[in-house]
Amino acid sequence: METVRTIACKLAPTEEQRTELEVTLVAFADACNFAAEVARSLHSTNKVTLQHAAYQDIRQKFGLSANLAIRAIARVCAALKVPAKRHSLFEPTSVDYDARIFSFREWDWTFSMTLLHSREHLATKMGNYQRRQLKGCLPTSATLVKRRDGTFFVHVVLTETAPEPEEPHGVIGVDLGVKNLATTEDGKNFSGDAVEAVRKRYGRMRRTCQQAGTKSATRKLQKIRMRESRMRANENHRMSNRLIAKAKDTKSAIACENLAGIGDRITARKAQRSRLKGWAFLQLRTFITYKAKREGIVVLPVDPRNTSRTCSACGHCEKRNRKSRDEFVCRHCGLTLPADWNAAKNMKVRGEVMHPVVGVADAGPRNLVETTNKPRQFIGSGS
Ligand SMILES: [Zn+2]
Repeated sequence: METVRTIACKLAPTEEQRTELEVTLVAFADACNFAAEVARSLHSTNKVTLQHAAYQDIRQKFGLSANLAIRAIARVCAALKVPAKRHSLFEPTSVDYDARIFSFREWDWTFSMTLLHSREHLATKMGNYQRRQLKGCLPTSATLVKRRDGTFFVHVVLTETAPEPEEPHGVIGVDLGVKNLATTEDGKNFSGDAVEAVRKRYGRMRRTCQQAGTKSATRKLQKIRMRESRMRANENHRMSNRLIAKAKDTKSAIACENLAGIGDRITARKAQRSRLKGWAFLQLRTFITYKAKREGIVVLPVDPRNTSRTCSACGHCEKRNRKSRDEFVCRHCGLTLPADWNAAKNMKVRGEVMHPVVGVADAGPRNLVETTNKPRQFIGSGS
């Protein structure tokens, strides 16, 4: 099973290179717009047809190298196949690269790229993460990107073969919650307090900016949004990494909330509802899924209904079991636990029902627990 990963690397071009990058972007976009015109007039999105019709013109008119011309045509064909993009204009913000016009040199962490007039060695500002990922790799495709703030990035595409999902020896139950973003069945949780505090502060700033409605307020608003989303993504990465590491160490599958329909299930107060429906939860779930796939870890999408009101010890399900948002006290057996922890234990049990595991130490009274989930396909198994 192949997984594709994109690593964004910041470029540190010289002044001349910067100019050269700019003109390359413009030439590539112009070439795309020209090719799109030709394609529309031919009523075709076939690469071969378009190459015959437009290749020579593109090379002469825009001065692109052979392979950049081919990449422009390929991009146009792909874009025009999408009905929504059929009439869109190509902006000078990115250029596609393949192995013939792009290479990566590890010893000085540079990229060699064909630009409009020359082939350039471009220095980078890479972090440890990027270096770790690119070490020993020979990437064969990439995209040159100019961001809105004027910085240049190369998005390197790495294709990897993910290991076949291993037969798990256990299941880690994960509850995604409001106060604790994620809680595992051993009671460890990943607090969302820090992110939440920032989110609230940004929320207030956002309202002020929206009320002002001026141009600079809009700009500031955009900045706030970007910062908030970076922070949230960072938090989600940390959380998913820890979870995946744990699953790998213990050779376990991850039983995690099936996020489809999360909006219908949640009976949280309005303020929390917006948060649970937000992209951040979906992102966390997505991170967990793709990272698990990469490591050959099985993810079990579990129906989370009633996990917060069902007792993880005796299986008694009652709304009043959950005394408050944080506290769970079973009215049948008296089990007292933090509510998220109890829910995570239930997630584990439901995961085990979906994917029976041989040799689980603490089997528990799982057959007593009311379950509503039907067995579904495993996300990690490649379908
Ligand atoms: Zn109980």
